[in-house]
Amino acid sequence: MTSFGNLMPNRPKDSNPRASASKIEIAKHLVNWFRENARDLPWRRTLDPYGIWVSEVMLQQTQVKTVIPFWEHWMREVPTLDALTNLPEPRLLKLWEGLGYYTRVRNLQKAARQIGANLNGVFPSDPVQILELPGIGRYSAGAIASIAFGQAQPLLDGNVIRVLTRLHGICENAREKTTLNQLWALATELVTVAETLDKKPRQGARLSAGPCSDLNQSLMELGATVCLPSKPACPACPIRQHCVAAAEGLVDRIPDLGKRPAATARRFVAFVAESNHRVFVTQRPTGGVNVGLWEFPNIEMGNDEAITSPMLGFIFDPTGKPLLTIKHSITRYRITLEVFPAKLQAGKSSQLAGKWIPKAELHSLAFTSAHAKIRTKIT
Ligand code: SF4
Repeated sequence: MTSFGNLMPNRPKDSNPRASASKIEIAKHLVNWFRENARDLPWRRTLDPYGIWVSEVMLQQTQVKTVIPFWEHWMREVPTLDALTNLPEPRLLKLWEGLGYYTRVRNLQKAARQIGANLNGVFPSDPVQILELPGIGRYSAGAIASIAFGQAQPLLDGNVIRVLTRLHGICENAREKTTLNQLWALATELVTVAETLDKKPRQGARLSAGPCSDLNQSLMELGATVCLPSKPACPACPIRQHCVAAAEGLVDRIPDLGKRPAATARRFVAFVAESNHRVFVTQRPTGGVNVGLWEFPNIEMGNDEAITSPMLGFIFDPTGKPLLTIKHSITRYRITLEVFPAKLQAGKSSQLAGKWIPKAELHSLAFTSAHAKIRTKIT
């Protein structure tokens, strides 16, 4: 079998006539397509850098349809940098509950405070200053600088990587540094030529900071709606006549994302202890993940380890059917969480770091995603 590398040997960036023929043509097709086909998303109806920043942070690791109600609720509750700066932590975590990856929201508040302290409370338009804010990487800086301020700053996320590698027939591992550098350079070229395109008046409710914003968003939109990981809709693609992968039958083989590390199975047991309409819950300590989030008392077990009672000071029936079993994945971990109804051993309550909370008040606390499912089950 011919190796992938031999099928499509390395080629200099601009050696393919279709790909290099006309960056301006490609940019024009993309921008025009986006202006006609952009989804109506709530954060596209604003040019407020704060709102755009919040949307970009929420969209990291979370799908658009999940983010929409969260963003709308957030912008009603925390409409400004000032409001975010002064938001008490329990409220901050509660508003983020369900989005997960809580470091994102902690960084959001840290950055708001940094802007207040160092930049007179004004969100910076300088990409270097944007990049210095906590939680903002090269992608987010490019997104905010282009979408909120119309600057010719590139961006590269998973969707854009897929479009650019296919467009240019790049077969090398897209996670490797040299390939990524090549892709950043291609993204930069495209957004730079977009600067010369028409500044179209806004369409419908969507606002645009200009052609660089439209170009960057067109790449993300194309990757999200047309140039899908499997079975891309090439006949509907505005740049199909320039696309090397489509022309050479390589769509199924590009991008090469290398091998993902194998998922690791982890197993936890959690306990629901109730007494007088109150439930015993604990708060995650500092120094780990999900600091400050609430959960039911739980312990990690070996995958084949026997469950015996008592455990963590709770008496339960280890042979009985769990109240529920939750399976979920976090980063590279495939987690199984078995939940048992339990009773605290006499005298143990005071030795455990936790609180008896009235059942009716559980919903006012921010729980980790898996434990929010337990809360839903018992309330
Ligand atoms: S032609 Fe197909 S593979 Fe190429 S960019 Fe468009 S959707 Fe993706």
